[in-house]
Amino acid sequence: MPSTTTRADAPIAILGAGVAGAAAAARLQEAGLPVLVLDKGRGPGGRCSTRRGADAGRPSFDHGAQYFTARGPRLQELVARWSASGGVQPWTGPYLRKSGEVLEEELPSTTRWVGVPGMNQVPRLLLGGAPTRYGARVTRLLPGGRLELQEGAEVLGPFRLVLLTLPPSQALELVRASEVLAPLARAAEMVPCITWMVQLEQGPARPFSGLRAPAEPVSWIARDSSKPGRGGGEAWVLQLSPEASAEVLEDGEEAWRRLCEPALAAALGAPPRIVHSAFHRWRFAQRAEGTDLGPAPEPLDLEHGWGLAGDWLRGGRLEAAFDSGTALAERVVAALS
Ligand SMILES: Cc1cc2nc3c(=O)[nH]c(=O)nc-3n(C[C@H](O)[C@H](O)[C@H](O)COP(=O)(O)OP(=O)(O)OC[C@H]3O[C@@H](n4cnc5c(N)ncnc54)[C@H](O)[C@@H]3O)c2cc1C
Repeated sequence: MPSTTTRADAPIAILGAGVAGAAAAARLQEAGLPVLVLDKGRGPGGRCSTRRGADAGRPSFDHGAQYFTARGPRLQELVARWSASGGVQPWTGPYLRKSGEVLEEELPSTTRWVGVPGMNQVPRLLLGGAPTRYGARVTRLLPGGRLELQEGAEVLGPFRLVLLTLPPSQALELVRASEVLAPLARAAEMVPCITWMVQLEQGPARPFSGLRAPAEPVSWIARDSSKPGRGGGEAWVLQLSPEASAEVLEDGEEAWRRLCEPALAAALGAPPRIVHSAFHRWRFAQRAEGTDLGPAPEPLDLEHGWGLAGDWLRGGRLEAAFDSGTALAERVVAALS
């Protein structure tokens, strides 16, 4: 950035290229404000991401968000546009729900949208052509709208504002100096999720797209390959419940597999024939139940020039992340105009 740049001309830095950061970028760009989106990961998505198969012919897995709903008008409008060009499609198959000891087949009551070819298409579509930089882990917010990357390996800025869309404990590390934002980040607790990505030799005799709360400790089984636009084999994703995930968080893959495999066998009605298996440990998967941030948490600290967004400010889920990122951007637009 040229040294002649004043903060008023400078772009707004958005930390995090998940759905909240991408939604904020989309809204700010719409208002004519330049942005730079920074993420420590290798691409967009955060918890709405897709793990590519390592070999040719291996399926990919949505190992974070499985699908999303669009209840608000702004997301509905975007979804209508994206679905017309095939970037998102409804995931329509029946799923199974446990009722006592019986597995009942149900059709979803609201449309379950998925990104095509993977869930990470959603933040990609939101980001559009926004300038992004990946592999950029922000380790400190410096005075004058500057940012430190990788413990001082690089300093970026100045930026007009810095918007953080990180899970709360990671955001807290950076905004401790803010009396407005630090209490908010401190008040939100996240729970973990151990996720199993597994490729099977063959699918179930009775096809279904997902199985909710099959049996503790597994809370969700998805037949990822039943989503539209997937290919490359029978891909399944299992999630341990928040309680079970917390209990075995440090135990490692063997222990996790011992918990997951019986639930998969029960869902399939036969022992699974496994071609490929991998785990992902989400330390901050979703907001803990009972978190109370008050009726209208203030996400913008103009004194420091910092703002907060993320699903956790609005209760969790992809649409909450979208709403939170959009709302923060709208607060910024109002404050700067
Ligand atoms: C296993 C699982 C299943 C889920 N299933 C569903 C579902 O079916 N439906 C649904 O609606 N929602 C689901 N969710 C929730 C949904 O994924 C989230 O609500 C949403 O993706 C959160 O988006 P976000 O932008 O708020 O945060 P994130 O996606 O967490 O984005 C934060 C970003 O910040 C980056 N970052 C962190 N620290 C730094 C740093 N210091 N410097 C730079 N970058 C940094 C991270 O790399 C990340 O990309 C699920 C979540 C998980 C984990």
